[in-house]
Amino acid sequence: MAKIVINQDRCKGCLLCVSFCPKGLIKKSAKLNKKGLNFVEFDLNGECIGCMQCAIICPDCCIEVYK
Ligand code: SF4
Ligand code: SF4
Repeated sequence: MAKIVINQDRCKGCLLCVSFCPKGLIKKSAKLNKKGLNFVEFDLNGECIGCMQCAIICPDCCIEVYK
């Protein structure tokens, strides 16, 4: 199964990836990163299909997809 890795310190919490994931696997965290922003987290229990929509849409290149 595919998975993604999010660079949480680079993430600015714009939530674009949350909107674009067709499986709803990315969620806003209640925690803050080094910039003081709410980053996003990946649901490791979900079924990522490796579609790369999240990585493509992220304006800050925070997401890597592993198939
Ligand atoms: S690769 Fe696709 S399914 Fe997996 S987290 Fe990103 S948008 Fe969601
Ligand atoms: S699109 Fe990128 S910067 Fe925006 S919330 Fe997702 S990982 Fe963070």
